[in-house]
Amino acid sequence: MIPGPDRIIACPHCGFLAKQHTLLSGNTIGAILWSDGKMEAPMLPEFPAVTKCRGCKRFYWVDEAEVKGEIKPFDDKSERVPEEWKRAEPIEHLTIDEYIEALDAGVGTDAEKERYLRVHFWWAVNDIVRRNPNAKIPAKYIEKLRENLRNLFVLLDERNPNDGIMKAEIAREMGDFTQAIRLLEDISTNLRWVADTIIELSKQKNSSVMQLRPD
Ligand SMILES: [Zn+2]
Repeated sequence: MIPGPDRIIACPHCGFLAKQHTLLSGNTIGAILWSDGKMEAPMLPEFPAVTKCRGCKRFYWVDEAEVKGEIKPFDDKSERVPEEWKRAEPIEHLTIDEYIEALDAGVGTDAEKERYLRVHFWWAVNDIVRRNPNAKIPAKYIEKLRENLRNLFVLLDERNPNDGIMKAEIAREMGDFTQAIRLLEDISTNLRWVADTIIELSKQKNSSVMQLRPD
């Protein structure tokens, strides 16, 4: 993994500065793939596409923020770099409550953005139980999560095999095992192993998020 420069970006609402890490190159060595589609790759971290401004507490899409400049790797102590750039804190992923707030506030202004918010809200809730099968999803999130999954299901297009698998996983996690299996009947060969794993879990009436292991 080779880090790229840190971009200094300005909140589109109030101009508050934040730091956006970049990568020159990464790879999927040591990556873990989960049944909900989340990939955890130590050498290819996923940077946030949406964040909450620390200045005005409003949400913004990172690619819509003005880039004020860049700090090259190992240059963060340099006198050439303005002090306010050095002080800017890295942008962070939203929390579960912030995803709910962002969806309610209409931050997902088109289908792609709505999909991002809904997928990441789902993943953030699953993170609670991802490595701890004994953990429980807090009751206050359960109805919001189900509503989110129903809306995400509609956004996904099962003619696309990746979307088809995600729809099946949503059905499985919501306990509709028959539909999960039906959605996976015609999945193309290179994704067959994923489909077969989700079918197997559905037959066991298992609705928990699971790590996927090829072979
Ligand atoms: Zn702001």
